[in-house]
Amino acid sequence: MVELFEQIASMPHEAALSSPVAAGLGSILRPRSIAVIGASRSTSTIGYQILANLVRYGYNGPVYPINPNASSIHSIKAYKSVKDVGEPIDLAVIVVPKHLVPGVVEECGQAGIKGLVVISAGFKENGGEGVQRERELLEIVRRYGMRMVGPNCMGVINVDPDISMNATFAPVMPPFGSAGFVSQSGAMGLSVLDYAREYGIGIAQFVSVGNKADVSGNDLLLEWENDPSIRTILMYVENFGNPRRFLEIASRVTRVKPIIALKSGRSTAGARAASSHTGALAASDTTVDALLAQAGVLRAGSVEELFDIAMAFGASQPLPKSRRVAVVTNAGGPGILAADALDAYGLDVVELKPETISALTPLFPAEASIRNPLDMIASANPSAYKAAMKALLADEGVDTVVPIFVPPLGVTQGDVAEAIAEAVLENPAKTVIPVLMGREGLPQGRAAVHAAGLPAYVFPESAARALAALCRHRDWIDRPVSTSTVLDVDTSAALAIVERAQREGRTKLSETEALGICEAYGIEIASAQISTSAEDAANIATAAGFPVVMKVVSPNIVHKSDSGGVIVGVSTPEDARAAYAKILDRVGIAEPDAKVDGILVQKMISGGRETICGIVRDPLFGPLIMFGLGGIYVEALGDVIFRVAPLNDADAENMAVGIRGTKLLDALRGQPAVSRSAVAETLKRLSQIAIDLPMIEEMDINPLLAFETHATAVDCRVRLAAGVQVRA
Ligand code: ADP
Ligand code: MG
Repeated sequence: MVELFEQIASMPHEAALSSPVAAGLGSILRPRSIAVIGASRSTSTIGYQILANLVRYGYNGPVYPINPNASSIHSIKAYKSVKDVGEPIDLAVIVVPKHLVPGVVEECGQAGIKGLVVISAGFKENGGEGVQRERELLEIVRRYGMRMVGPNCMGVINVDPDISMNATFAPVMPPFGSAGFVSQSGAMGLSVLDYAREYGIGIAQFVSVGNKADVSGNDLLLEWENDPSIRTILMYVENFGNPRRFLEIASRVTRVKPIIALKSGRSTAGARAASSHTGALAASDTTVDALLAQAGVLRAGSVEELFDIAMAFGASQPLPKSRRVAVVTNAGGPGILAADALDAYGLDVVELKPETISALTPLFPAEASIRNPLDMIASANPSAYKAAMKALLADEGVDTVVPIFVPPLGVTQGDVAEAIAEAVLENPAKTVIPVLMGREGLPQGRAAVHAAGLPAYVFPESAARALAALCRHRDWIDRPVSTSTVLDVDTSAALAIVERAQREGRTKLSETEALGICEAYGIEIASAQISTSAEDAANIATAAGFPVVMKVVSPNIVHKSDSGGVIVGVSTPEDARAAYAKILDRVGIAEPDAKVDGILVQKMISGGRETICGIVRDPLFGPLIMFGLGGIYVEALGDVIFRVAPLNDADAENMAVGIRGTKLLDALRGQPAVSRSAVAETLKRLSQIAIDLPMIEEMDINPLLAFETHATAVDCRVRLAAGVQVRA
């Protein structure tokens, strides 16, 4: 396989260009010739700058400026129309005013051009007429079987020296490397390209997708999935056109190449009216987090973090085998900061092996601290760095070394960086994340570590989060491709409950109906029965066995305990009679207009930990499953995790351990740990409900009482979509 790649890589330009391309983007990403439609003589225009960039950065094919009013531009012969060129053209870059775009695109189609990059703005992003104009444009593109990037984009770059195409108006060409970068914002893309050289982020291809009328981020993932020259994918995303497709593609691609995404803007879920806990808690960015996590995509929270992570993946060193790290520094403070940051990002600053300590001790003065972090003190020179690196890299308990250098007088960044690089070249099997903290001599220091295939960070915090991302990716690719176990469920019983409500014109199910759906899907529930008098309640409770919980049953009351409608710990028939009257009294005061159908007598389940799980539907993302710490503080804590349904086994297991406060579900104060597999099982069953019963708009199990061996639903709420057809 590797051999084949090498053969392709060494093929002459023409042959490489004609290789088949999955998504048909070859004419855009690897064109053999380019027309610039709207090329201009005026140097201040985009039309001039694009032509000039193609020439300046040495595009390896002919360029044809198209302008009806000029015979030559930038020393190149110009044509009135693409139809006059008389040579085959792969790609047309279009920079004409918006109303001229459809006409020139039509001409491109007639001239047999297959690739378009439409820079011109004034389409969907303007609303109104622009939307219609974009539709017309797309219609022409489809009619001729062309592919189009844009409109309203910044262009496309292929840094590969065989192509060397800069079809943008950006005044930069990033250094050549192995990252594919797709940006929904032109300006964001530009700033990354601008810093790429300084941060050592090598780029292979850059695509500013603009309005994504035709070519989307998903198309580029598909393209890059099969392109051996792309090893890392960077994305700047403002919105997902088709999140489910993204999930499908990205979860496959991330198994082979890391995807790092910076997502801005809020999820569309924010616009949804929510009547359940699950709905309310989904109304934030958590939906996007869920999607990205489930697809194995590393999410960067800021531009800076995107750089930090991209730099680590761009480096040509191995992924860390585990989270065990050693730190070596010439100053105590930064060493402690690094240890703290590493710890905060879930990495282990381990104890060094005794052999390592004995190898290091004779090398340093008595003031040095021979432990982890290893503080060599300010006198450490380049050879001290090299010796320390060699010893730490040889330590079997260490998989990553973080060398930190703060320049003291007399020692330069460049020399230390070279010493670090030499040690790494002698033992390249481990991960090294250097932190070069001084400004003085930084470019030389960076150059030296970059040349050795290492990243370079200015702050320990950045190094820690980049290393954490490498470890997250390692965990993801180590995770076996998950299966989905088949569950035995009684769909028709659940459907019968739902359809009865629909026939009665109700969108809210009663608590017993909702628990009935849980039961039909194999989720354990606390048994319950409705009583309609105090005597009835006492009898039901006696038959069920004390203690019981009593709850008001009313179609008008959403949160029963808020209106005094729940009494727990009812332990005698007298208590039951009293509780019946008390609930009616309290509810009568709190909700005088509520219709009360009776009082539910439910088996009291003691001792479990209160968790919450639920279903909510996002208009774009589809059904989402939630899990979190439940009970009455659920909204205040907001400690929940979402995943897109259907959940596979690994998704469900990850959710069961994925909340921030997951330790609260471990063994605690004499209570045994909650069964994560019972929780995961419940989540998979919920996911099945979400898939099988699409008329369920929202569902909350709160609480799901979780125990050492099982989990029991004691309260459930279900809201159906309004106006859904009932089966005949
Ligand atoms: P609501 O959420 O409408 O106020 P719940 O049925 O969830 O009503 O009851 C409120 C609280 O009472 C629950 O969060 C739980 O702590 C407790 N509770 C309810 N039912 C039971 C039960 N069967 N066993 C033990 N505790 C219960
Ligand atoms: Mg509840």
